[in-house]
Amino acid sequence: MKRKLIDSHFHLDHYRNHKELYDTINTLEQYTLCVTNTPGVFVSCKNLYKETKYVKFALGFHPQEKSLSAKDFSDFMILINRTNYVGEVGMDFSSDDYIPKEQQIDFFGRIVDLCASKSKLMSVHLRKSEVEAIEIIRRYHPKRCIIHWFTGTTAQLEELITLGCYFSINANMIRNKNTKSKLLAIPQNRILVESDGPFTKVDGKKYAPELLLPAYQIIAQHFQNPDLFDQVYTNFKELLLR
Ligand SMILES: [Zn+2]
Repeated sequence: MKRKLIDSHFHLDHYRNHKELYDTINTLEQYTLCVTNTPGVFVSCKNLYKETKYVKFALGFHPQEKSLSAKDFSDFMILINRTNYVGEVGMDFSSDDYIPKEQQIDFFGRIVDLCASKSKLMSVHLRKSEVEAIEIIRRYHPKRCIIHWFTGTTAQLEELITLGCYFSINANMIRNKNTKSKLLAIPQNRILVESDGPFTKVDGKKYAPELLLPAYQIIAQHFQNPDLFDQVYTNFKELLLR
């Protein structure tokens, strides 16, 4: 039987050959959530590509995108009605080059509030912002919240698990000595797989959709679960039914 693979965080628009990759994903029949970093990019993707069973676009508002304005945020609030998927959103306090901290907290709080009330699925980026994010998630308790590429502490991980979050894991995280063992604390019914392509490598190669299967194998081996493929598929379905 052919295995059903899901990539819950992929940046199609970051590839020069995005048209080719769009076709590859559909041919390989890999369910792929294509996140975007701004409402403008989301609109361009929706205009350029038909959504298929395998390719879906998520509406993003990335904290590293300093160019995002209040106008973009009001666009975001309107566009959210055109999709069930939101991402990449989140908070990142790891550099002063990003959106100012107070503004990030304000935007993210409103995004989580809205996603919780409209039951949207979110793919969330957090860097040095886990404390504030946990507070916001606790306040609004969104049902469909995926933390992508988690890099916080074990205590923060446990809090996010208690709050019902899912975690999308990529191959780079398994190669990282600091995160690697921490990840084993995640219950297997909360695990998803992401590529975060083009920002990851699998077996030394820049991520492309053909590498999703080897990425799954690396992650399955780390969790010592040969059934991780089915588990991830079940997890994603459950997340959508919540
Ligand atoms: Zn990303």
